[in-house]
Amino acid sequence: MADRDGFIWMDGEMVPWREAKTHVLTHTLHYGLGCFEGVRAYSTEKGAAIFRMKEHTDRLCRSAHILNMKMPFSKDEINAAQCAAVRDNNLDEAYLRPMVFLGSEGMGLRADNLKVHVMVAAWSWPSYMSPEAKEMGIKVRTSSYTRHHVNITMCKAKANGNYINSMLALNEAIASGCEEALLLDNEGYVAEGSGENIFILRDGVLHTPELTSCLEGITRQTILDFAKELNIPVKERRITRDEVYIADEAFFTGTAAEVLPIRELDGRVIGAGKRGPLTEKLQGMYFDAVKGKSAEHSHWLTPVNG
Ligand code: PMP
Repeated sequence: MADRDGFIWMDGEMVPWREAKTHVLTHTLHYGLGCFEGVRAYSTEKGAAIFRMKEHTDRLCRSAHILNMKMPFSKDEINAAQCAAVRDNNLDEAYLRPMVFLGSEGMGLRADNLKVHVMVAAWSWPSYMSPEAKEMGIKVRTSSYTRHHVNITMCKAKANGNYINSMLALNEAIASGCEEALLLDNEGYVAEGSGENIFILRDGVLHTPELTSCLEGITRQTILDFAKELNIPVKERRITRDEVYIADEAFFTGTAAEVLPIRELDGRVIGAGKRGPLTEKLQGMYFDAVKGKSAEHSHWLTPVNG
């Protein structure tokens, strides 16, 4: 990742990709207190456009606030940085990684003189799921790792350190022949995937876990917006893992995963064992929206060239 041409926005200026470095004593590297976003820009008729950038920037600022990190840049500046990162790297579509982290001015948990840094990188990173997975769905296993409890880390913050839990769960799932993990909360109810929210469909009603220990996903909100448009009833509530086993359809949502059908959980086939009709409909609406093909959702896109 580090050895390539291009530019990364760091603390207010564009820096050549290979020179966008930080010291090994960077505080966030040691203790994980930092926050970040995963954002996508898609190729549209108006050129590359960032999907729901404002919502991502808002969440980044909320995460920083929760972690008590004072943001040194305004939302407008961070939005401009994201557009510039796509534009200056000549990207037609991109994954964007804004991150807020603490500097190397001090060490130890008590360090109180740390500078807050902000960076935004953008690169071409096509969907990590194959076209087949998007159609046939993926195999998932319930994780042996519990999702964060709301009073252990802050679940509303997309915090760097929170992802140790995600990586342990994902690595375990992959090692056992699955493609993704489903994490339960500390009471045993369904929380989310390692980097995705989850929805199930049962008897025409969509269900998704309430926002307790899962992240306030922007794709999750997009699906809730679509459901409203389609007059599909939605219940945000506690879900048990066996409700997923007996669902008619199930799918994950996330900026990276997009809308991803789940065909199997813990060896139990879900519904018809492939993408269900509502998942297909919502997935289609999602791809139309991100690619600027649906006029009613065009306000979610910010063309990087203005
Ligand atoms: N949960 C977790 C733990 C995540 O990392 C992500 C990805 N940001 C999501 C859910 C989905 O969020 P979004 O739709 O905003 O990408």
